[in-house]
Amino acid sequence: MKVSQMLNPTLREVPAEAEVISHQLMLRAGLIRKAAAGIYTYLPLGWRVIRKIEQIVREEMDAKGGQEVMLPIMQPAELWKESGRWDVYGPEMLRLKDRHDREFCLGPTHEEIITALVKGEVRSYKQLPLLLYQIQNKYRDERRPRFGLMRGREFIMKDLYSFDRDPESCQVSYQKMYDAYERVYTRCGLTFRAVEADPGAIGGTGGSHEFMVLAEAGEAAVVFCSDCSYAANVEKAECLPRPVAGDDSLKGKQGEVYTPGTKTIEEVANFLGVKKTSLLKTLVYKGDDRFFLILVRGDREINEVKVNNVLGPFLNLRMAEPAEVQAILGCEPGFVGPVGLKADIFIAADLEVAEMKGAVCGANKKDYHLLNVVCGQDFVPNIIADLRMVTAGESCPKCGGKLKEARGIEVGQIFNLGTKYSEVLKATYLDEKGQEKLIYMGCYGIGVSRTMAAAIEQNNDEDGIIWPMPIAPYHCIVVPVTLKDPQVVATAEKLYTELQALGVEVVYDDRDERPGVKFKDADLVGYPLRLTIGQKALQEGKVELYYRRTRKTELLPIVQACQLVKNTVDSELSLGK
Ligand code: ATP
Ligand code: MG
Repeated sequence: MKVSQMLNPTLREVPAEAEVISHQLMLRAGLIRKAAAGIYTYLPLGWRVIRKIEQIVREEMDAKGGQEVMLPIMQPAELWKESGRWDVYGPEMLRLKDRHDREFCLGPTHEEIITALVKGEVRSYKQLPLLLYQIQNKYRDERRPRFGLMRGREFIMKDLYSFDRDPESCQVSYQKMYDAYERVYTRCGLTFRAVEADPGAIGGTGGSHEFMVLAEAGEAAVVFCSDCSYAANVEKAECLPRPVAGDDSLKGKQGEVYTPGTKTIEEVANFLGVKKTSLLKTLVYKGDDRFFLILVRGDREINEVKVNNVLGPFLNLRMAEPAEVQAILGCEPGFVGPVGLKADIFIAADLEVAEMKGAVCGANKKDYHLLNVVCGQDFVPNIIADLRMVTAGESCPKCGGKLKEARGIEVGQIFNLGTKYSEVLKATYLDEKGQEKLIYMGCYGIGVSRTMAAAIEQNNDEDGIIWPMPIAPYHCIVVPVTLKDPQVVATAEKLYTELQALGVEVVYDDRDERPGVKFKDADLVGYPLRLTIGQKALQEGKVELYYRRTRKTELLPIVQACQLVKNTVDSELSLGK
């Protein structure tokens, strides 16, 4: 491909709308253009990257016995009503009506449609296990589409669904996918980590893992052990309890204390001269039409995912408004506590709260707190469970080692669903004895377009993108420094043709531009290799090979140059294979 013919509009300026590096570089390198918020057009070079990621995914899915299908994007509402998710999905689902007023959605995911398919086609245990997948656009009307391809409203996903006869066999399929995912991201040249995850709205009881590309711009926080293999999304992360000593300054004190204007944990601790670990943090939540009191130690943060799981996932839980708290408990949120409640409210306490020797909490009265309150005596929680965020430095739940924190971009997630969907959609098979049994399912997603963004977040410098060879739009660019010297041009064209013949994906910069302009564009787009043909070196029969990642250059005899490029490309492509 000749650069003069290529639709590759590069930009010198950083576009104002782009907050993260990957979004900035994708716009600047001419890989994508925005059509609407969270909706993008892929230009030729961007699309080549997508196709390469897709191909790696395809090969690894096929290697595990996956069969590619194509499911409809437009899906009838009835199926979603049958599974109960038409209402659960909420405003994230893009809904539409046809001319007969029938309801449809644009698929945010495909469990319903594929389960219905398998229900209709699979009769016998002999047809199982079955691994079906597709690569296509998904639609989610995200509340905050942002960061370019990272969080789009239309995005490309690979989704595979596994169908098995029992939990054991389902676990085998799950492990196959876990292994395939590790291969996919390794082959894409990414640094990643598989972490234990919360299954969220997709659901299922058999466990879930997320695959995180480690990068500062990541929206997710992950916790991992420095001594063993334990790693989890913070939403899911657990740790060993670490009891704290009681507060001497509270000894012997009891009852109400006047704490004017102290609404935050910080203010109360300072005013009373006690440690934050001696305070009880009490938050009021509302779910459906009920109120809940959530208690954690003063120095802790509430983990809403854990709270949701403990209290039931379909409560639409949210923090109560100050006016709602005032109405039901008769005081401002800052002075709420679990003792002597005016209303019958469900109390959920974190594990650590049950261990506190004597705590300070709100007195449910403006400007007052209570001293030395003890869980189990002064108030009795309806439930005691792990409800808090784990922080770096705490102890690993598996080995007691020190936990660390990192940021990650979720590029894939796998779910062991059990019978969640087969039960509601009645997907069954007949076993050897002719008995009807429920199918066990798993689902496995890879964000293909997000993976492209994540790759850039992890591989860039001040001049542009540094593509890992396996997903680079082209492997090499040939740059003649001038078009005025016929010998330079002839050599460049010859090398370009030769590289093509060797099967190297190569671009020829035939533009009549200054070398500086060509080099800048090549660095920005991120071609892993650049072969430069200059007048001086040519007189000695040499050309220059430039490695984008290391920025090192090498002078090579012309006769050897193409083979060396080919060898470098081949060796980098074989990584992880
Ligand atoms: P997130 O928590 O980031 O919203 P999710 O957990 O809802 O994602 P899944 O249902 O697990 O997403 O989808 C599988 C994969 O699809 C994700 O791991 C992610 O890589 C990708 N993905 C999900 N939502 C988006 C989006 N809005 N834009 C781009 N990729 C996405
Ligand atoms: Mg996910």
